[in-house]
Amino acid sequence: MSRQARLVSSTLQYMGTHPQTVLITGANRGLGLGLSRHYLARGRHVLAACRDPEKFPAQAAGASGSLRVLPLDLEDPAFASWLADQVREDGRSLDLVINNAAICKEEALGQWTGSAFTASFVVNAVGPALLVQAIREALTDGAKIIQLSSGLGSIAHIPRSPDVYTSYAMSKAALNMLTARLAVELADRNIVVCAMNPGWVRTDMGGPDAPETVDSAVEKLTSTIERLGPADSGKVLSAEGIPLAW
Ligand code: NAP
Repeated sequence: MSRQARLVSSTLQYMGTHPQTVLITGANRGLGLGLSRHYLARGRHVLAACRDPEKFPAQAAGASGSLRVLPLDLEDPAFASWLADQVREDGRSLDLVINNAAICKEEALGQWTGSAFTASFVVNAVGPALLVQAIREALTDGAKIIQLSSGLGSIAHIPRSPDVYTSYAMSKAALNMLTARLAVELADRNIVVCAMNPGWVRTDMGGPDAPETVDSAVEKLTSTIERLGPADSGKVLSAEGIPLAW
């Protein structure tokens, strides 16, 4: 993987000997960047996984935690195994993994394309599955895995009018299923696996009309993540921690 070799990941700042380690995908913008900033500000060691590490804003490293930016393209499964090797070589274990990266294609019935369905499924559902598989041995017993899902992935609450998000909705329904299955797979290690709907948030994906800022969504998500325990594993939750029908 020449791209990975070229993008020598940078350890920008280390403080403390054993800070909790957090892996966040899609860390360079939107909620992923907000989550990275949040955990850096609280002294965690953040593994910021980005499709293009050069897009991770350098100023985000100016917080009290330590940061390593790593390349991860969820369309290429080789990145997940490479990332797992890096975590192993660093001798780190992962306390929190946030599968945040996603794509959202807009196509109305009549314009549906196989490529939009396939790409959405690969990035939003298959990617997180293969990433967790690759890093599972690096997870601390009692670790937490958070899958950023969406209300659109709910079969219990299908929108009442047609919309353009069918491929995205299908991929998030699959991510919810992955969550339920991983919760069972990892229960013997007390690993908590939850899907969370962040709400409608002002990011590139959410658009300018979204009512929620990244900071307020991150505040809600992270305080809920802090409270999660084994009894929550397998659930789909709102940002505030309320179980959602899916
Ligand atoms: P965003 O602003 O569009 O950011 C998406 C992130 O995913 C970017 O960092 C992007 O990297 C990364 N990404 C896309 N394709 C990738 C790939 N193949 N490999 C690795 N990374 C990839 O999205 P957001 O609004 O922050 O959303 C974050 C999460 O919340 C997503 O799971 C989304 O479905 C969920 N969510 C968001 C909202 C909302 O209103 N914003 C609502 C419900 C759910 P590049 O910069 O390289 O493209």
